[in-house]
Amino acid sequence: MAGGIFNSLDYQCNVDCTNVHPLVCHLCHEQYQSPCLLDCYHIFCARCLRGRTSDSRLSCPLCGYPSTVKGINALPPEDRLLKFLVDNNADTEETVPCANCEQECNKNDTGMMYFCNTCSQPLCGACRELTHKARMFSHHDIVSLAQRTKAKHRKCPLHKEPYILFSTENKSMLCIKCFRDMQVESRTHCMDIETAYVQGCEMLDQAVLVVKELQTSAREAILLLRSMIGEVCLNVEEEENAICSLFNSLQEKLAERKKILLKAAQSQHEEKERALKEQLSHLTALLPTLQVHLVTCSAFLSSANKFEFLDMGYQLMERLKRIVKLPHRLKPVQSSKINTDYRSEFARCLEPLLLLGQRCPPSVAGSTSAATRLQSPLSMSCRSPSLSEMPLESVLGRRMTSHRNICTKVLLAEGRETPFTEHCRNYENSYRTLQTDIQNLKDQVQELHRDLTKHHSIINTDKMGEILDRSLCIDSQITSQYSTVETMRVMFEEVCQVLPFVHTSFSICPLSVSSASH
Ligand SMILES: [Zn+2]
Ligand SMILES: [Zn+2]
Ligand SMILES: [Zn+2]
Ligand SMILES: [Zn+2]
Ligand SMILES: [Zn+2]
Repeated sequence: MAGGIFNSLDYQCNVDCTNVHPLVCHLCHEQYQSPCLLDCYHIFCARCLRGRTSDSRLSCPLCGYPSTVKGINALPPEDRLLKFLVDNNADTEETVPCANCEQECNKNDTGMMYFCNTCSQPLCGACRELTHKARMFSHHDIVSLAQRTKAKHRKCPLHKEPYILFSTENKSMLCIKCFRDMQVESRTHCMDIETAYVQGCEMLDQAVLVVKELQTSAREAILLLRSMIGEVCLNVEEEENAICSLFNSLQEKLAERKKILLKAAQSQHEEKERALKEQLSHLTALLPTLQVHLVTCSAFLSSANKFEFLDMGYQLMERLKRIVKLPHRLKPVQSSKINTDYRSEFARCLEPLLLLGQRCPPSVAGSTSAATRLQSPLSMSCRSPSLSEMPLESVLGRRMTSHRNICTKVLLAEGRETPFTEHCRNYENSYRTLQTDIQNLKDQVQELHRDLTKHHSIINTDKMGEILDRSLCIDSQITSQYSTVETMRVMFEEVCQVLPFVHTSFSICPLSVSSASH
């Protein structure tokens, strides 16, 4: 099939319509022969379209649009307009042989050639004389070849009268008899040929303008589409690179964080093991001492007489009392749990890269400002690195409390009962309780300190141990509160991405406890 190559999309894109001769068929690349107009307004020769019909449908060889045709070998209607142009073109370019002597005369030598409208035959000057000399041919309408088509159009084929009017209603020319036969109301739509021609020309001009506009828009659209095809290539490359680089940095971050977490777990393990072993060795060393003293007691009881008992018994009793009162740490000083909080640690290290909890359009994704903006409140609240340098009182007393109050107050003042306000209330309550506890401990420690420095009195070990136990208890409470808050934070950040989350105070509390317990 000659049209095969037209099915390729590339070819369609590259068809430069400005170079296409309007009278040349796209398929055979020759001047149209009985041009047929398809429903998509593409035109091909009738011979080029033959055999392409299937199921009363003819798909355009150029654009593929299916045109409806009737019958198996039927073709779309002939394009009268184009045929006119083709014929006209043929008239001017081709030589027309005389119907009688077949002498070929160029049409430009109009003086030489004639056309008999009655016979519908071209005739050379000699043959005109020769063939139409007889009287029976005297009424034949012979014109010069250039005028033949025009002459053909001038008369009404029905009435053989010259056209004088044009009906804008039927878009047809009328002779005087046609006009006469017309219904009266239709006559208002008639005008003389000259006016109709001028008016028609104006209307065609306007139609041409509209088509030109469409042409301009189509060209612009083509340029746009071409540049977009280029852009889409660039964009996919960019996107792929972004995906790869983000993936790599995520992997790096994760690997880095994994190393840190493993180290943290290991150091927790070492620390706890050391502490537990120390405690264990202390207690295992205690047992023989106790055993010895118990044996001593029973031996003393059985072997000493009343005098010996009264002489040394109280000494023994005093010793036993002192042994009992020594600071024995019977409860485990450490829990056996290893907690690196790895889930939230991993999540936190990915957050700046993934911009979680940020409602930003994708266009700014990857901008560093957004990333740092996100990172700063997090790292501030989680690490609070500068707190160790701050005076403890200012930290506990004013700064953090005022900050905390503002945030939670604002949130609670919103009044709506949401899970978040409930969480704030719980947080507020546990914070207060812990603060009171810590304040009590601080007071006790200060009292002990005062006793030691001012009165040089011996510190009561019972009281000391009590404070130590209490501190450790509060410490573990804070740790559990902290992980609860961390979990809640992640949860709430997912749920409600705009609200800045507040969880400042718990992170500083371990500091105050450790100072208090010294
Ligand atoms: Zn063709
Ligand atoms: Zn088409
Ligand atoms: Zn001739
Ligand atoms: Zn004739
Ligand atoms: Zn007529």
